[in-house]
Amino acid sequence: MQISRFFNPKKAFFAAFLFVSTVSFSQLRNAEVHKYIEKIQSSYREIIHLPNIDGYVTVKCDFHTHTVFSDGQVTPMMRVNEAWSDGLDAIAITDHIEYRPFKDITNPDFNKSNEMGVKHGESIDFIVIKGAEITRKKPIGHLNALFIEDVNKLKQDDPVDAIKEAVKQGAFVMWNHPGWPNDSTTMYDIHRQLIKEKLIHGVELFNAKEWYPRVLSWGKETGLTLMGNSDMHYTIRNNYGGEKMARPMTLVFAKEKSEKGIKEALFDGRTLVLFFNILAGKEDLLKNFVDKCIDVKVIDKKKGVIEATNNSDIEFSIKYGDNLVILAPDKVTRLTLQQKKPVLFSNCFTGEEENLVMALW
Ligand SMILES: [Zn+2]
Ligand SMILES: [Zn+2]
Repeated sequence: MQISRFFNPKKAFFAAFLFVSTVSFSQLRNAEVHKYIEKIQSSYREIIHLPNIDGYVTVKCDFHTHTVFSDGQVTPMMRVNEAWSDGLDAIAITDHIEYRPFKDITNPDFNKSNEMGVKHGESIDFIVIKGAEITRKKPIGHLNALFIEDVNKLKQDDPVDAIKEAVKQGAFVMWNHPGWPNDSTTMYDIHRQLIKEKLIHGVELFNAKEWYPRVLSWGKETGLTLMGNSDMHYTIRNNYGGEKMARPMTLVFAKEKSEKGIKEALFDGRTLVLFFNILAGKEDLLKNFVDKCIDVKVIDKKKGVIEATNNSDIEFSIKYGDNLVILAPDKVTRLTLQQKKPVLFSNCFTGEEENLVMALW
């Protein structure tokens, strides 16, 4: 009788059941939470709305990134996942050849980061281009060799020999951040010579957080392909925050969305540069692309009442007369604008001091 006062078998069983079920239930919940976090980190991708132009597909690229195999802070796989999540279509891994602070821990084979990136890219159907950054002092500065076969052969005393070897391998060579390490944005004799000899094919108009408007003039003078890249060493979130389209990109107008298609387009100069909602590049391509971004429906021809639909994720700001109008992304804007009236796009640049000007209808 005494025992029953302290020990009720029914209550004890219920308490034990409660204890076991609480423990196992919380374990189950922990497992679910863990899985959920994994899913967030690896499975979601932004959809960036940018139209194609006639005959070409618009491919969103970043041709300048670093990994732990040079002075970057992440693995090649992480760099690829990050770009996929950001909604890009292709990146190049371009580790420094001459600057490898983690070389005591990483593999001494200079091709390793490319091999790991390409293999991972293939496993998630994402284009990864093999590259390397030839890293020298001014005047020649830094140059990326893209679409290369063997980085080890680019380790040469003379940087021009390294460039020649890259070109022998079929590389597209671009001159990086021409305003670094001073802000003079100077083209030196060595660059003129290399451009003349077709050993430099492209140049960065935008790098990381800097843009070099003078490069638009160089593009006109020399025909160099214009590029805009992140030069990412840390993570995109570190440098640009987590907003959609926060990172800069080179828009490539390719005959097909493939490495081969991108390469052909780069050698032909079919690019625009997009950074912080600014679009810059050669006038004909810019006109063509913006024309595809904005559809116009005429409501009242006489009064000039129109509806402009912005089919892109770029916010366009237009000026005409005393009017300043924002064409918000994925929205329809109703405005009054006479037919054939030229409109200035204040976020679109075709030259150092020149904006895109064209009629909307
Ligand atoms: Zn560099
Ligand atoms: Zn770099």
